[in-house]
Amino acid sequence: MFTEALVSRNAGGHVKLDEVLILDDFLGLREIMVVQHTDCGATHFDIPKFHQTLKRRVSEDLDLENNNFGFISDLKESVRKEVHLMRQSPLMRQEIKDHIFGFIFDIKTGLLEQVA
Ligand SMILES: [Zn+2]
Repeated sequence: MFTEALVSRNAGGHVKLDEVLILDDFLGLREIMVVQHTDCGATHFDIPKFHQTLKRRVSEDLDLENNNFGFISDLKESVRKEVHLMRQSPLMRQEIKDHIFGFIFDIKTGLLEQVA
């Protein structure tokens, strides 16, 4: 049996809830896999430096303290957060909430580790 998979890629593998809801409405999703990967650029981001760049560009008064722009400091925690975001949303169908899983793709070994 073959199953179609729709792949939505973005920087850092962060879930766009609006996009998931719309795709579910159009296509009737059955399962969702959140996959982030080792050595992701989002884990190498220098947030304080980026904040300084934006402040220089816009204004030193910018309050960026609570905006990490998708930086990932802990991959497992990040995947679990994305899965949790969908599972706790009142906008997601219950049937799909029970079929949301989170993985880390190891780019060196090619293996997927389920973490949520
Ligand atoms: Zn990446």
